[in-house]
Amino acid sequence: MTKYIFVTGGVTSSLGKGIIAASLAKLLQARGFTTTIQKFDPYINVDPGTLNPYEHGECYVTEDGAETDLDLGHYERYLNTFTSQANNVTTGRIYQHVITKEREGAYLGKTVQVIPHITDEIKRRMLLLGEDNQYDIIITELGGTVGDIESLPYIEAVRQLKWEMGTENCLVVHLTLIPYLKAAKELKTKPTQHSVKMMSENGLLPDVLVCRTEEPLNKEIKRKVALFCNVTQDAVIEALDADTIYGVPLEMMREKLDIICLEKMQLPLGIEPDLSKWKEFLNKLRYPKSKVTVGLIGKYVELQDAYKSILEALIHAGAMNECKVEVRNIHSEYLTKENAKDNLHNLDAILVAPGFGSRGIEGKIDSIRFARENKIPFFGICLGMQMACVEFARNVLNMPKAHSTEMDPDTDQGVICMMEEQKAITQMGGTMRLGSYACDLQENSITARIYGSTAINERHRHRYEFNDKYIGEFENAGMMAVGRNPKTNLVEIVELKDHPFYIGVQFHPEYKSTVENPHPLFVAFVKAAKHAQEQRNGIAKRPFEKTLSK
Ligand code: GLN
Repeated sequence: MTKYIFVTGGVTSSLGKGIIAASLAKLLQARGFTTTIQKFDPYINVDPGTLNPYEHGECYVTEDGAETDLDLGHYERYLNTFTSQANNVTTGRIYQHVITKEREGAYLGKTVQVIPHITDEIKRRMLLLGEDNQYDIIITELGGTVGDIESLPYIEAVRQLKWEMGTENCLVVHLTLIPYLKAAKELKTKPTQHSVKMMSENGLLPDVLVCRTEEPLNKEIKRKVALFCNVTQDAVIEALDADTIYGVPLEMMREKLDIICLEKMQLPLGIEPDLSKWKEFLNKLRYPKSKVTVGLIGKYVELQDAYKSILEALIHAGAMNECKVEVRNIHSEYLTKENAKDNLHNLDAILVAPGFGSRGIEGKIDSIRFARENKIPFFGICLGMQMACVEFARNVLNMPKAHSTEMDPDTDQGVICMMEEQKAITQMGGTMRLGSYACDLQENSITARIYGSTAINERHRHRYEFNDKYIGEFENAGMMAVGRNPKTNLVEIVELKDHPFYIGVQFHPEYKSTVENPHPLFVAFVKAAKHAQEQRNGIAKRPFEKTLSK
């Protein structure tokens, strides 16, 4: 029978519930339990797809094309398994379902209420992934902070599940903060006591407390927290600030979070966890042998979470190369042809980020031109790839009005445009090519050599496509379409000849990079950055291409 662990948060947001949930799942997985994680978000958007990245960070896309909360990215990166639409539920989706049912008359004239109708639907969704007994343990992260009005139905749903299933089948792990007051030189437990009290007022008691803290918790503090929060003393877990989020699973293992949860769920401890691959990655991450600087050109760069998966993929790729990747955030809105050199000349590589809309678009184009002309390794993702095509058309193919019809609907040089099938769909959130699609690679392409394969699958999130009617001109001038969708023939990858590393991809490789499987394109990109630096310093003699296996 599937067992359930709920992770709630108290005191303040941004304590890292997603990381704690993912770390616990990783440990349970390492002990041989099949595990997945799902996230319930209390906002009313049906999915995060329509949210501005400034609001909620990156929108993460799953294999099945769900636009989800960025925490699902952490789950996949830690567990190295896929999540799906079912792993992310919002209040909006719950209400949408209940209201649709009401309109269909499914409630037979009953008054439809938060309790029991909304809470029943929450409960149904919470148990959904466990229905076919595919998982031993399902961890559910509840978004928001205990005490928020919108979290109440979720807390009530968990309370009912706990009552129905018993603690051994339904465990609550509460993440809280123990602040250190510098002036008093003391750790303070009161906020934690209050948040547990608030939860207990709603009838839910936590079984395990994970306490974020800047200072180690001594025995006395742990005892105090346990006593006043009504948990066993071994269930007060210290979660010290970590140097990297990837260190947290090992910290949680040291604190025995996995063992305590298993004991409380009356499960055997499973096999001795083997995290040697994880530790090897951490070692490489912590003790790099070299350093490169990568420019990340985007319009949301001031908000770290907006490019979460790209930043994480660069971390994975850096570790693979035993190289620290310093990311320099460059705001595309302030980049111009005139200042491009000043801003970009000392970079080892340039990555142009995905995005929507016109803001900062010319800066992206200028930075791509700089990378192309100065032979700086370049990686363009989605909008980054599209703008690489626009730049090439304008500056090499002499098409001054070349653009994407997203930014310039009236241009007669729409090298990036919307395909006929997409045009028919008008409802927000529904118009995009989303999720995993196959792509065939040209056998002799750099990309195929990087992947070590000519058939790949990658995730998409975009509306516009390369306009194939221009492909002849592009290829004659050296920009090659080396990857295409086998069914629709849409262009997915472009490469530039006579450039050390210049790849544009219409898909989002960053979503599929994990600790145990860093994405080959990111690994190659960092390797190319390292190579460019070594070449400048006269260390590397061969061209980058020659360093790739055939
Ligand atoms: N705005 C572009 C499109 O819709 C690119 C999207 C993206 O970068 N994710 O096609």
